[in-house]
Amino acid sequence: MRQVSGVAQLRTPRPDDLLWPGSSLLLTVEEVRQLWAFVHGDIMDGGIRTQLRASLGLCPRHTWVYAVVEIELWQDGAGVRAGHQPFDVTVLYQDLLDHVAVGLTRPRTLFRRYPESILTPSGPCRVCAEVVPPGNSGMRLGYAASNSAALTDEANLLTWTQRWCVETAPIWRPLACPMCEADTRQMGHPIDEPGLLCRTHLMGLGRLSADLREEVEARLRQLQKRMHRLNSSMTQYGAPATPHDDASWVETLGFFAGWGLPLHLADLTAHADERTI
Ligand SMILES: [Zn+2]
Ligand SMILES: [Zn+2]
Repeated sequence: MRQVSGVAQLRTPRPDDLLWPGSSLLLTVEEVRQLWAFVHGDIMDGGIRTQLRASLGLCPRHTWVYAVVEIELWQDGAGVRAGHQPFDVTVLYQDLLDHVAVGLTRPRTLFRRYPESILTPSGPCRVCAEVVPPGNSGMRLGYAASNSAALTDEANLLTWTQRWCVETAPIWRPLACPMCEADTRQMGHPIDEPGLLCRTHLMGLGRLSADLREEVEARLRQLQKRMHRLNSSMTQYGAPATPHDDASWVETLGFFAGWGLPLHLADLTAHADERTI
């Protein structure tokens, strides 16, 4: 096993830090400890669901960390892949897609004058709130006494996450947020396709026209249907997922948390392939 957890301890990541393989922004042991417990928790318990709707899930960094932890570390499951799949992630984000889609097309009222305000979290990321800063002494027990450092080494390989991202790239790549793509490539910011923008870049446009809100709502509804089928495919009696269903979780997390990680993972593989030709 590649030992990488030491690299991850350089500083405490911030919510806007991208998960960047090969950098100091790998998952930290404390993040994995928190997220591994989160994956095992009852995320759709009423109180937690309300909290997660207010915060629109987790911050951008921890949204992707959540998916990475579940995909890399959860080894068994139903469906064709039989593990290493985003089951919990798709449960939570189906709910959040519905929440945002409803909010975007809600009629304006005196108290809710701007439907696009649904794109802005009104609560903190619960993982950011619970991560113990480095330097704090005391025992930090992993979920069910698991070895958080070993799990972190395993998660940081990103083996299964990269496989998912590369395999589904032909579907999601044309649908990625053009401004995230421009950021990744350090190019200018085209906004000729505002209907494809991620949540953060949509927020940056300020007030949104009714047409644009309806276009985004239709995209989120369509994503929700595909992700529902993907989630069912991971259960004992669900039909197999189509390639479009498989790509739905990447598109959904791209919408909520930005596209940096999948774009980077797909590019890494493309560049590696170029070098071997
Ligand atoms: Zn966070
Ligand atoms: Zn974006």
